[in-house]
Amino acid sequence: MAVLVNFKICDNAKECGGIAVCPTGALSWNEEKATIQIDNDKCISCGMCEKECPIGAIAVAKTQEEYAKIKKEIDEDPRTTKDLFVDRYGAVAISDFFKIELKEIKDKSEKDCLTLIEVYNPDVAECLLKSIPIKELTKTLPKDTLFYKAESDKVLEEFNIKELPSLLVFKKGKLLGHIDGYYTTDGKETMLSKLNVIINK
Ligand code: SF4
Repeated sequence: MAVLVNFKICDNAKECGGIAVCPTGALSWNEEKATIQIDNDKCISCGMCEKECPIGAIAVAKTQEEYAKIKKEIDEDPRTTKDLFVDRYGAVAISDFFKIELKEIKDKSEKDCLTLIEVYNPDVAECLLKSIPIKELTKTLPKDTLFYKAESDKVLEEFNIKELPSLLVFKKGKLLGHIDGYYTTDGKETMLSKLNVIINK
């Protein structure tokens, strides 16, 4: 009858297990719109996709009543993808707002204020998920501190980075220092003291 996806908590990724197992193409990936696409004319309510979703974002309705009930639940679901990432991975998703290109690092770091740029490997999930949410660090720094994230699949020799992720600290275009490697929340104090050493030297 119909499949419903709760996009409030869905990763909305091409790799969706539901798409992979759907025998009819009712669930597919729309490359142009970069989203999971639903064609309920093709859905046979087999339930295979529902079993594949690890967070329960997919639900299958066999009747109109079930459809209305599930839709109401989704409409009233107060969660967001932000909650999903915190709940599932212990860290928030990276906002596109902070993302810059590697080639922009020099330009972005020219300002008089402190500028932190985290370089991370997008292919290594741990790199994204284990790093401490930046607000944990920036709340101890001057209010005008800027923060960006840049993707790189290899360490950057020009900044002498040994390991990703790396947090580069700039002021007026000068690299004051960088902190390399993973820091979980347990390592927050260590990271903060390293940051202070870099800023105050
Ligand atoms: S219920 Fe079956 S047919 Fe319908 S979307 Fe899911 S896997 Fe595809």
